Amino acid sequence: MSDLTKLTLKAALDGLAAKSFSSVEITQAHVAAVAAARALNAYVLETPEQAIAMAEASDARRASGNAGVLDGAPLGIKDLFCTKGVRSTAGSKIIGEFIPTYESTITANLWRDGAVMLGKLNMDEFAMGSSNETSAWGPVVNPWRSKGGNAQLTPGGSSGGSASAVAAELCLGATATDTGGSIRQPASFTGTVGIKPTYGRCSRWGVVAFASSLDQAGPMARTVEDAAILLTSMAGHDPKDSTSLPVETPDFASFVGKSVKGLRIGVPKEYRVDNMPPEIDALWEQGIAWLKEAGCEIVEVSLPHTKYALPAYYIVAPAEASSNLARYDGMRYGLRVDGANLTDTYEKSRAAGFGDEVKRRILIGTYVLSAGYYDAYYLKALKVRRRIADDFDQAFQKVDALLTPTAPSAAFSLGDRSDDPVAMYLNDIFTVTVNLAGLPGMSVPAGLDANGLPLGLQLIGRALDEGTLFSLGGALEKAADFRAKPQKWW
Ligand code: GLN
Repeated sequence: MSDLTKLTLKAALDGLAAKSFSSVEITQAHVAAVAAARALNAYVLETPEQAIAMAEASDARRASGNAGVLDGAPLGIKDLFCTKGVRSTAGSKIIGEFIPTYESTITANLWRDGAVMLGKLNMDEFAMGSSNETSAWGPVVNPWRSKGGNAQLTPGGSSGGSASAVAAELCLGATATDTGGSIRQPASFTGTVGIKPTYGRCSRWGVVAFASSLDQAGPMARTVEDAAILLTSMAGHDPKDSTSLPVETPDFASFVGKSVKGLRIGVPKEYRVDNMPPEIDALWEQGIAWLKEAGCEIVEVSLPHTKYALPAYYIVAPAEASSNLARYDGMRYGLRVDGANLTDTYEKSRAAGFGDEVKRRILIGTYVLSAGYYDAYYLKALKVRRRIADDFDQAFQKVDALLTPTAPSAAFSLGDRSDDPVAMYLNDIFTVTVNLAGLPGMSVPAGLDANGLPLGLQLIGRALDEGTLFSLGGALEKAADFRAKPQKWW
């Protein structure tokens, strides 16, 4: 029965439709796999009873001919999504006991289409991090290991639980979120596919806020087609989120397998950064060659403000975070540590509830928004953000999509960079530009490095043109023929 966890989401849905197995069977196989993989720390909450109950309901729907497009498929949910009646912690102690009384729009959409929830997935605290080491529940471990080594590696962050669970076959697909790279970088580190859609494509309602103008939810999966199927269900206009776009959701899976002949692909020269491992450069060249062979035209483009993207991101994101996280004051909900007076209670609650990285972001964010520094930092960063978006606009006059590496390295060891925030922030160098400009970006597994660790390539598209990314992602996936899997040690 455990072979059922090896299926792609598409194959599982076909098998369910053909009644080759039931949802209860495939869900049970996953529940067992999840319970046997606690060494990865990918799930912070397993919900086996709820999973089986949802699976039974799905089987009943299918028997009566009312199955939805995801009916019976077991998924993992990042703990940033509020799930009704099920603990949702955002990776933080400050809401470590929070049981929402409502369901996020994204998860509601998945349940509407019949999906089954296996549990909640670990993540960096409030999605702040690139290695999953800021989680209040301990780091997630990457199922991949270096050839011949047994050091524990990071699955990336902040959606490290989603990435690890998808790579280790602990769900057929997962939800994730991306504020500066948190879907794409973990996808790259675990040999999985992840897409951050256009800002506004997926509703943020019921997703715990980090930096509201950058946050966007998306799927992680083992194939491009699976990611397309999931995004089609997750996306859609939601009046409960004022930044949700009133646009139709295409059937994204219909773009996978489409010819990419004649598409113009931009290669931004500014993404050739110093100290990038030669293997990543080589993989990028390989990706260019694959797309050329598929009939694309390759064009060198310039995104001149790229070098300011990280500093701008690490001002805008903490500024918004400091404002969003002001609500965790020990008064209305979440952890409270009683003090001598109101201010003392605020201070003690926040000191006890937030981890170090979150405190660092709140301090930076409060500083850059304070009188006297607002113009010099925050306003300046917003101007840079505009320039970065303009660079992309210019590039998209000439090309249909861009190809870059996803991250400047493969997965690194847990503990390697946790003492050096700047080294950690540098991970996001190729991903934050996309969030600053609100564009869709996808990471596709493209190869292994000399240590046998996965590396991803990133495709960036025009706003609302995820379809082209799915076609190109499908072409890259086919050319790369990436079949490697982590050796089971857990
Ligand atoms: N690594 C980035 C950060 O720490 C991005 C995180 C994210 O996308 N949620 O802010």
